[in-house]
Amino acid sequence: MYNREGTVVKISPRLEANSKESYYRLEVVASDLQTVAKSSELDNMEHRLHHLESKVNQDVGKTPDIMSELKSHVESFKRKLESVEHLSWIGLFKDDGEQHLAKFTPKPKTPQLSVQEERQQVRRKFLNISSLQVTEDVRELLKTPTFDNWQWEEAEMLVLLQVMYTSLDFLSALNIELEVLQNFLFEVYCHYNNIPFHNFQHCFCVTQMMYGLIWLTDLRNKLGRTDLFIMLTSALCHDLDHPGYNNVYQINAQTDLALRYNDISPLENHHCAIAFGILAKPECNILKNLSSEQYKHIRGGMIKYFSVFSICCVSVLHLLSHELLSLLSLGRCILATDMARHNEILNKFKSIQSVFDFTNKDHKEVLMKIMVKVSDISNEARPMAVAEPWLDCLLQEFFHQSDTEKQKGLPVSPFMDRDKVSKPSSQTNFIRFVLLPLFSELTKLFPCLEQHILEPVRRALEYYSDMEKASKDEEATTKP
Ligand code: 5GP
Ligand code: MN
Repeated sequence: MYNREGTVVKISPRLEANSKESYYRLEVVASDLQTVAKSSELDNMEHRLHHLESKVNQDVGKTPDIMSELKSHVESFKRKLESVEHLSWIGLFKDDGEQHLAKFTPKPKTPQLSVQEERQQVRRKFLNISSLQVTEDVRELLKTPTFDNWQWEEAEMLVLLQVMYTSLDFLSALNIELEVLQNFLFEVYCHYNNIPFHNFQHCFCVTQMMYGLIWLTDLRNKLGRTDLFIMLTSALCHDLDHPGYNNVYQINAQTDLALRYNDISPLENHHCAIAFGILAKPECNILKNLSSEQYKHIRGGMIKYFSVFSICCVSVLHLLSHELLSLLSLGRCILATDMARHNEILNKFKSIQSVFDFTNKDHKEVLMKIMVKVSDISNEARPMAVAEPWLDCLLQEFFHQSDTEKQKGLPVSPFMDRDKVSKPSSQTNFIRFVLLPLFSELTKLFPCLEQHILEPVRRALEYYSDMEKASKDEEATTKP
């Protein structure tokens, strides 16, 4: 948009009103998706890649892994460009409280159809391959934080999630039918958004880390099946339908979510409510066959949370009361992932650390919350090659939020501001002040975790501190 003088103007709430004497001029910058999709740069890139591939093939005899990987990146990038789904992320037509942006842009003809079709394809593939035997190597790898999520596509991740539920004997212990589990997992997949960080891959990583921690700490012999089930399912559901803007934004922008939940953990309450909504569908309700014993166990100590959860439970009031109570316990773990409650939960855990007792239900409850929290922010406990792309995704989402905040004249969180943070500065602070204090506390209870989660995080701190120092040195030498 230009003013009368021909200068580009920033669209913000502070913009002066349009008038006959002083009017704004709009100019179409892009209108045809096809031109974007068929950009010559992409064609050129593809052409060069083919050329390089045939050259390498001649010299080496076969396509090296790195080439195949690069090729699949280009392919997936091309697919993304060709689909209109990515436009939802830049705020053109996504119905997530950004409707004022949507009003000005015609909706693409059938955006839903392609998303639906893609999901159905994933569902078909998932069901087709779900009966295949997952190799012992993969099953073992799945139990460690070194697992590389980037190598798996969505249908395969759904199979791996099924493996986690079956390996922990949840199907027999909680009387879950395989078909119901599959429907549930697929619905969970459908309720994650196509955004840079808080997407289905993140949900998978958090659940896989939880699964790994359960095995590494031998929790199978320390907690009951129901508790383990609640922990894994909380991890799975903990960011359902995340819109890509955090709680601070929800509150400052007075979104529907903030209004609905009175500014109290709006996102986490929403994730819970979506989880409850999925479980309310009979064909997805993995809790429907719980025995009364299991119900009684889950019931313990959770009544006090009822009022907090009452809003989200309204939608599932038709469920039996014992199912409702299991859901509450699940919700309690999801709510614990709100980082605003980080210190409160960590301090509680610290205070019981020295006298921790696995038979004490209050102690167990705090531990369960800590485990969900650790899994939630555990990317840096993974090998650098797995962790680093996650940081890029996170910063992409952060920057998008802060750009929107600037546009709307809302307060901007400094740690999300592209003008203020860099990869190393973001990580050194996060590791020093959040990860290390939290992870070392859990490691005190389970010393075996030292090598699995604490050491990789210390290495990451070293890596990013070096990077930070190098960029400071460079700045110093380039300054006049
Ligand atoms: P989540 O939103 O995933 O439920 O909660 C975790 C929050 O912790 C993220 O939104 C993000 O603010 C923060 N976080 C998680 N991992 C990292 C990380 O590797 N670096 C930084 N700087 N923040 C992180
Ligand atoms: Mn998360």
